[in-house]
This record gives sequence, structure tokens and C-alpha cells, in this order.
Amino acid sequence: SNGSVLVVGSLNMDLVAQVQDMPRIGETIIGHSFDRMMGGKGANQAVAAARLGARVAMIGCFGSDAFAGDMRSILAKERIETDGIRTVENVSTGTAMIMVDRHGDNSIIVAPGANRYLGPDDIERHTELFESSDVVVLQLEIPLETVLHSVAAARRFGKTVVFNPAPMQGLSEELLRDIDYLILNEVEAEELTGAPASEFDTLAKRLAALPCKHVVLTLGGDGAAYISGSEVVRYPAMKVHAVDTTGAGDSFIGAFASRLARGDDARDAVKYAIKVAAITVTKLGAQAALPTEEETKQFDLLWGAESR
Ligand code: ATP
Repeated sequence: SNGSVLVVGSLNMDLVAQVQDMPRIGETIIGHSFDRMMGGKGANQAVAAARLGARVAMIGCFGSDAFAGDMRSILAKERIETDGIRTVENVSTGTAMIMVDRHGDNSIIVAPGANRYLGPDDIERHTELFESSDVVVLQLEIPLETVLHSVAAARRFGKTVVFNPAPMQGLSEELLRDIDYLILNEVEAEELTGAPASEFDTLAKRLAALPCKHVVLTLGGDGAAYISGSEVVRYPAMKVHAVDTTGAGDSFIGAFASRLARGDDARDAVKYAIKVAAITVTKLGAQAALPTEEETKQFDLLWGAESR
């Protein structure tokens, strides 16, 4: 393996306005500030892996607007291969309109736009990207049909499939059977299994019974669990001063995939992902907070051997 990750997923432009209080229906308010940044689970996970030294390619769709050009150059700066990203005419690029109030609470409207147009044909057109990858990473912000097609393509070439079922929807046995690593948070795990997150043992048992090969359950400030057959291992989070947990999940998944792609053992990849996600929560923003490999080394030096 040469550390190559293929992400088939969403690309969004996040439009973020800071407001005092959320506007009521019919109200117009003046915000404090406005920012634009690339987002979407697909793009976030791709950037997370690329900053940690993985060779990353993406398959996705842009709309025919100015955001597309901006995002292509951001991806190029991150050294992510964009040949697999198609521009869809007369459609807008995916956007997330985000309002953040003075308490830090947010309201979000996601307009999937071009992400909805990513179809099985896009997968067939880029089977070479599957062939040259070690790990294929998928989420659910693109059509389910395209996810199924991608899993089949990954299987065809014998690649490892990492699947993050977010946002959660009904998943078939057939799909789960072809997943090597199912990575999900507690809310998604509750939705998928019906077991409450407050009862860890029950939840872990239900997750272990799923037809996928291995499960990684992220537990926020409580770390993560690796569940594989009868093996359930819990790893604590690193104790850091959390400033903004946005992007923690995507950071974890990108980091995990980057290490799997290098041939690391999955348990070591989980430990590494916990460290990377801890760095991410100490900083504001989603993509802006994703650390480079250099930053994770600095973090190791600061923390000493205990963080390894
Ligand atoms: P988000 O939606 O905020 O991006 P998520 O709900 O998908 O995240 P979480 O389980 O909350 O996923 O977080 C992912 C990982 O980030 C955790 O497994 C943990 O390692 C790390 N993490 C999250 N919160 C903290 C924290 N307060 N301190 C240290 N690490 C954290």
C-alpha cells in the first residue's frame, strides 16, 4: 500500500454568518460577520487525510458557479486530485447556510445542489481512481445508489471500504456486509441499532452483531471504541481544552483512513485518529482546524510518550 485514499462524497461551500440572536420568521437582522469556507463531509474528510500525508483523490460534483472555481483551487492547495470532480451545468454547488448566535448555537440549511447529481456513471468513469487507491471513504451526503455503486467498485478491486453513515438513513444488510470499517458517532449508532447511547454495553453488542466487518464508534469527549466480532476495546479521548468540536468527526475519519491506507493496524489507526481529533477540537472551525502531520508531531513532543 502507498497511502492512497479515495473519497467519494460531498463538496459544499459553507456560508457562515455570526448573529446576536437568530432571526424570527419574517425578521431581517444585521449580522456581525460573514465567512465562506469549503465544507461538506466528503471534502472535510479528504482534507483531513491529505494534511496528514495521504495521497488523496476525490470523486464528486460541483455546480456551474463561482464557488466551484474557488473550491477547485482550495483542493489543489491541499494537494487533492480533482480529476474525478465533475461540473454539473445549471445547478448550484452544494452550500450550507449557517447562522451562529452569541451562545454558539447554530441553525443550518444545507442545499445539496450538485451533490445530488453524483451518479453511478461518475463512478464508472473513474474506476482508475478506485484501482490506484488503498482505502475508499464514503458518507451519505450523496445519493445512496452512488454509495452502493462505489462500494461495489471498491470490492471489485479488493480495496478497503471505510463508511461513515452520516446523515443516517436506513441501511441494507447487503450494503453493510461489504463494509470493512463502519465509523459512526453515538447519535448515528442509536439511530442504526435502536439501542440508547447511555447503555454502552447494549449498544456495543448491537453494533457487533451488524454484518459489517469492524465498527469504530466515536464517543465525543469519551474517546472511541473499536468493535470487531467479540472484541470491544475502548480508547479514552485525549484531555485537551476543547474550544470548538466542529469537524471532530471528519477529522477522526480522515486520520483513520490515512493510517489504514499506509497499512497500519486498525487499532493504531484509531489511537492516531483520537490524537488528531483532539488537536482539531482545540481550534475554531472545521477545515481550518484540521492539523497537518507536522502539527501532530509537535503535539507528540508537547505531550511526551503518553500521547503515542
Ligand atoms: P462533530 O459532529 O462535532 O464533528 P461527531 O459527533 O461526528 O463530531 P464525536 O464522537 O463527537 O464525533 O468526536 C469524534 C472524535 O473527536 C472523538 O472520538 C474524540 O476522539 C474526539 N473528540 C471529540 N470531542 C472531544 C473533546 N472534548 N476532547 C477530546 N477529544 C474529543
